[in-house]
Amino acid sequence: MLGQMMTAPLLISSLIDHAAKYHGETEIVSVETDGETSRSSWGEVAINARRLGSALSKLGLEPQARCATIAWNNRRHLEIYFGVSGAGFVCHTINPRLFPEQLVFIINHADDQVLFLDMTFLPIAAKLREHLPNLKHIVLMGPRDDAAAEQVPGLLFYDELLETGDPDFEWPQFDENTASSLCYTSGTTGNPKGVLYSHRSTLLHTFAANQADALALTAADVVMPVVPMFHVNAWGVPYCAAMAGSRLVMPGPGLDGASLVKLIDDNGVTLALGVPTIWLGLLAHAKGTGSKLNSLTRTVVGGSACPPAMLKQFREDFGVDTIHAWGMTEMSPLGSVNIPLAKHKDLPIEEQHRLRESQGRPTFGVELKIVDEDGNTLPNDGKTQGDLLVRGHWVLDSYFRMEDQNVLQDGWFATGDVATIDADGYMTIRDRSKDIIKSGGEWISSVELENIAIGHPKLANAAVIGVHHAKWDERPLLVAVAAEGESPSEEELLAFYEGKIASWQVPDKVVFIDALPLNATGKVLKRALREQFADALK
Ligand code: ADP
Repeated sequence: MLGQMMTAPLLISSLIDHAAKYHGETEIVSVETDGETSRSSWGEVAINARRLGSALSKLGLEPQARCATIAWNNRRHLEIYFGVSGAGFVCHTINPRLFPEQLVFIINHADDQVLFLDMTFLPIAAKLREHLPNLKHIVLMGPRDDAAAEQVPGLLFYDELLETGDPDFEWPQFDENTASSLCYTSGTTGNPKGVLYSHRSTLLHTFAANQADALALTAADVVMPVVPMFHVNAWGVPYCAAMAGSRLVMPGPGLDGASLVKLIDDNGVTLALGVPTIWLGLLAHAKGTGSKLNSLTRTVVGGSACPPAMLKQFREDFGVDTIHAWGMTEMSPLGSVNIPLAKHKDLPIEEQHRLRESQGRPTFGVELKIVDEDGNTLPNDGKTQGDLLVRGHWVLDSYFRMEDQNVLQDGWFATGDVATIDADGYMTIRDRSKDIIKSGGEWISSVELENIAIGHPKLANAAVIGVHHAKWDERPLLVAVAAEGESPSEEELLAFYEGKIASWQVPDKVVFIDALPLNATGKVLKRALREQFADALK
């Protein structure tokens, strides 16, 4: 016997319809690429999304045609998210920091038909145009600009394209398993791989991300996604904000500490989300200028391990609750969020803070487990570490257009992370499996050593890598970036580890570097460091 309840496909268009209907006046603040701030609303975003869906349909695109974006977090990008997917096309967000060869590979592999660009990226498009034979339209995200038109023959202009669209365009209805959006992993080894999200997976992820023990966006929040819209759909924040009816502050291209502090203070941002490197800049600036970030109540930090010193600084100096979360492109991205349990409220405050350092518990809809090399499930005792596997409603099943893939192990996706899980389900990432340091048969977590080093007041940033060692196979090397105006000695940095970890885990040596090499998603390129310092312990 079947249940006798209504069913309707879970479609992204329903999110923007809801935002328009019940939060139509709620403001969308957007820093444009020229630095100007524009103010629109969910109502206007919805109308423009319909216009765009209609205009793209009139261009004669086939259903599920890929429409790519290379753009900052701004109002037009938001309209494209809803307009493209809502009309049944696939919104393919591209990371502009990829190498030109990778951009060409991705656009051709995805068979993108349309490419939406912010002005910043017009020169890249002009240069790559001849290598993109299948691309039909390039659209500059702004009004007509004659100088730009000269750079790219046939260039279309977003605002003019919208004029050709119908504001009463009706969203098509289709199977909720239809592809909605596409994002390629940064591909530190080999070519980038495409993760193709569906309307259903996106909607379920949005429901889950808005749970009270997850990101919990509300209609009363002013939300600033600093995490880029070209990186796993800005962690799903645009969808969550539409579902909740939150006010949005889109920071545009200026992601430096000064710009972000100003945006928070000027707009009363209550919740901001981004990777640790962004917050390092923001905290340094806020401290320097004496801003108290008064409106900010929560930050969500993920993408790489949040150093405990950062949690402490947000909490103690700014009264901001910092929520550590973990996920990946293949998981839409939400895997786990660190929110305390009722029983933790009675613990001593220091113990409560320590518990907040881990990557947190899985939200309903994803499951986590750790396994040994043979795939045997390991205990959730908080001590045993193993390869982290996941499964759930918004976890990848297979990569887009990739042959010979063997992605799942008995229905679970192997994350490539090494983790521990405790009895309450709190998961701690110990390392990427390829970054963990194997010293004399023991494992040393590079993340743990980095977290300690980043807490040293004379350091701006730090990475720890395993370097070949004649006796121990590998030993840790601390690659340190001094804070401005400081010149710490090797001895004082190594002494800082005393009492914090076992003495055999302390790095063998410190090397100083001006800046850490970062990959396209802002993560430290450890492979480059390993190559550069391969002989450091010889
Ligand atoms: P994203 O950076 O958006 O989460 P990616 O697919 O680029 O997605 O990278 C996923 C990887 O990033 C994870 O497998 C993990 O190694 C790392 N990562 C993400 N969040 C955290 C975190 N909170 N702590 C430690 N590592 C993290």
